[in-house]
Amino acid sequence: LFAGPVEFVKGVVAMSGLPPADRLEVCFAGRSNVGKSTLINALTGRKALARASNTPGRTQEINYFTLGESRYLVDLPGYGYANAPVAVVQKWQALLKQYLSGRQTLRRAFVLVDARHGIKPVDEEIMALLDSSAVTFQCVLTKTDKISAAARDKVLEQVRQKLAAHPAAFPELIVTSSEKGEGIATLRAVIATLE
Ligand code: GDP
Repeated sequence: LFAGPVEFVKGVVAMSGLPPADRLEVCFAGRSNVGKSTLINALTGRKALARASNTPGRTQEINYFTLGESRYLVDLPGYGYANAPVAVVQKWQALLKQYLSGRQTLRRAFVLVDARHGIKPVDEEIMALLDSSAVTFQCVLTKTDKISAAARDKVLEQVRQKLAAHPAAFPELIVTSSEKGEGIATLRAVIATLE
């Protein structure tokens, strides 16, 4: 599906460090511990790929990976750390804003939401930023193997209701479990067919 190498390119800390905008890209955002690394690993079929993003020092960087020859996968730092220093958060938010509003080749953001928690206020902040940057975003529910069918219906309802207020939200959700492999092929196909 992604012909060519899937590998870590670089961690970016300033707009000047972005790789050339020579191909389409998608980015992944989510609260820390939402299951982002696990999902990226499942998506790419590389077990340790996104571990690169979670190593100390890399967690505040925008991490670039190739998805074959024609796409970049961009791993944004997890947000919502309870004890992150204010200065670090502000620096990161400034870079995030610049990135989202200034990256021509960014086609879609995937906002990961833990199925057990639903959309939280910090998720809504990111979604509002995506709205104002006019970046289409699609919600990806993670860890759905951890909840019952009834709980799933309930969280899906909450997510749909919240998304209705966001003009940049893509209406279809992607329901996943990296553990069970659910939804991974769907997510892969969505990325592969973006133009
Ligand atoms: P990140 O901080 O968003 O990168 O989160 P990680 O990918 O490191 O995952 C956080 C925790 O959730 C780890 O203990 C994972 O094993 C677990 N996890 C991630 N995805 C799933 C899933 O689909 N199902 C279950 N049951 N656990 C998951």
